[in-house]
Amino acid sequence: MLNNIDAGERSIDNYRGIVADEVLDKLRQTAKDLKGLRILHLNATPFGGGVAELLRSIVPLLNDLGLVAEWKTITGNQDFFQVTKTIHNALQGGKESLNKEAQDLYLKISQQNAAMLEEAYDIVFVHDPQPAPIPLLHGKGDSLWVWRCHIDTSNPNPDVWGWLRQWLTAYDAAIFTMAEFVPPDFPVQQLEIIPPAIDPLSPKNFQLADTTARQVLEWMGIKLKYPLITQVSRFDPWKDPMGVIEAYRLARKHVPNLQLALVGSMALDDPEGWDIYKTILAEGETDPLMYVFTNLTGVGNIEVNAFQSLSDVIVQKSIREGFGLVISEALWKETAVVAGRAGGIPLQMADGVGGYLVDSVPECADKIVKLLTDKELSFNLAKAGKERVRQNFLIPRLMLNELSLIKNLTAGKPLIRKSWESWRDHVCGMAVSEPASAPTAEFNGQTYVFCSKVCQARFQENPQHFT
Ligand code: UDP
Repeated sequence: MLNNIDAGERSIDNYRGIVADEVLDKLRQTAKDLKGLRILHLNATPFGGGVAELLRSIVPLLNDLGLVAEWKTITGNQDFFQVTKTIHNALQGGKESLNKEAQDLYLKISQQNAAMLEEAYDIVFVHDPQPAPIPLLHGKGDSLWVWRCHIDTSNPNPDVWGWLRQWLTAYDAAIFTMAEFVPPDFPVQQLEIIPPAIDPLSPKNFQLADTTARQVLEWMGIKLKYPLITQVSRFDPWKDPMGVIEAYRLARKHVPNLQLALVGSMALDDPEGWDIYKTILAEGETDPLMYVFTNLTGVGNIEVNAFQSLSDVIVQKSIREGFGLVISEALWKETAVVAGRAGGIPLQMADGVGGYLVDSVPECADKIVKLLTDKELSFNLAKAGKERVRQNFLIPRLMLNELSLIKNLTAGKPLIRKSWESWRDHVCGMAVSEPASAPTAEFNGQTYVFCSKVCQARFQENPQHFT
C-alpha cells in the first residue's frame, strides 16, 4: 500500500465572507454533479513545499463537497529522491543529465510504487515528475489520469525531457500553472492552465494575534526593535538563498541593524537541501543578525505565519519558480514583497501591486531599502497585493477550476483551447473569480475579462493571437 495521508476535515462554508459568494455558490453547484466521484491525489511528500501545502487543504475540502478524495504519497530511498531532484532541476532548465543507472533506479522504484497502488479511482491526479510513470507502469484501468505539473517546464534540459516525455504519454490531461510552461512537444492533448492558491484559513495564513506573533519571533531570538527581512523557502538553488544574503549585506549598508531570517523546510524528496543548508549556516556563523531556521529546528506553520506577518519585507529572490505560494502568503498578511521576476511570481504581483519584481542582486537590495525606508509606500503596495490575492489566489477559486476540469473530463469533453469559459483570462489562462470588477476588452463583438491590466494590455496589442 502507498502511504495514506490523513489531512483532517474542513468545510467550504467557512470561506463565506472571505471569498466572493459567487465563487462558493458556483463551486457547490459544480460539485453537485460530481457527488461520490472517487479522486486520488498522488505526490512525493506529505510536508515541505507547495504541493503538500495545497493538498492538505484541497483533499478535505473535496470530501466536504461530497466527492470521495484521498491523498497518497509514493515511497523511495535517498538515491531515488536524488534522481527525482535532478529531474526536477533539469525540467527547470538545469544542465545535469541522468545516466543509465539513474534512469533504471527511477524506473525500478516507480514500478514498486505502481504495484502498491491497489484501490480503483475515477480520476487520479499525479503531481510533478516524481510519480509520473505510475499510470503507464500500473496500467490506467478505468481511471482518468491527470498530470499536474507545478514547475516551470518552459525550457527543459532536452536530454532529460526527451527521456521523461515517454512516461507522460499515458495521461488523459495535464495541468500547468501558466501557459508559458507547456513544453512545445508536450505529448498530452488536453491541457488546462490553473495557477495554485493559498488557504486563508490554514494555520499558516489565518490572522495571528499581533502579541502572539511577536512572542513567537522573540522566542526564536529575533530582535523586534530592529528591521527584519525574511525569505521563506526550501533550500534550493532556484530560490537563490545566496543572492538573498548578498542583497541583505548590500541593504544593511543603508539600514543599520537590519536582520535577515532564512526560513526553509527540509522536504523528504529534496536531499539537495542539506548541502545548501550547510553552506548558508556557514555564511551566517559570524553574523549575529542573520538567522537560519528549519522545520527540524521547530519552525512550523505558526512560526512561518509570524515571520510573514511581522517581517518588514518578505524577499523571494527566485531565479526559476513554478508559482511561489510564499508570495501570496506574504501579501495575504499585508507584508510587502521584493521578488525575482520568475515563473508565477509576476502573475501574483501583476499591475505593480504587492511590492517590486527584480532581476539582480543590486536591484533586490535597492528595493528592499526603498520599502524599508518608505513605510507608507510599503503599506499601500501590500494592501493592494492582498486584494489581488483575495480575488485570484485563494483556494476556493483553485478548486472551482479543478472541479470544472473534472466535470469536462468525466463527460468526455475537450478542455481549454476549445472550451474557454466566459470568466477566463484569455492571456494568462487563469479563471477570473470576480469578473464584474475585472479589466475587460471588446473584440469582434465579444467582451473578454482579464486578471490584470498587464493581461488586458497584452490582449489589446494582438487580440487575434489570443482568440
Ligand atoms: N514552507 C514552510 N516552511 C518553510 C519553508 C516553506 O512551511 O520553512 C512552505 C511555504 O510557506 C509554502 C511552501 O512551503 O507554503 C512553499 O511553496 P512554494 O510554492 O513557495 O515553493 P515550492 O517549495 O513548492 O517550490
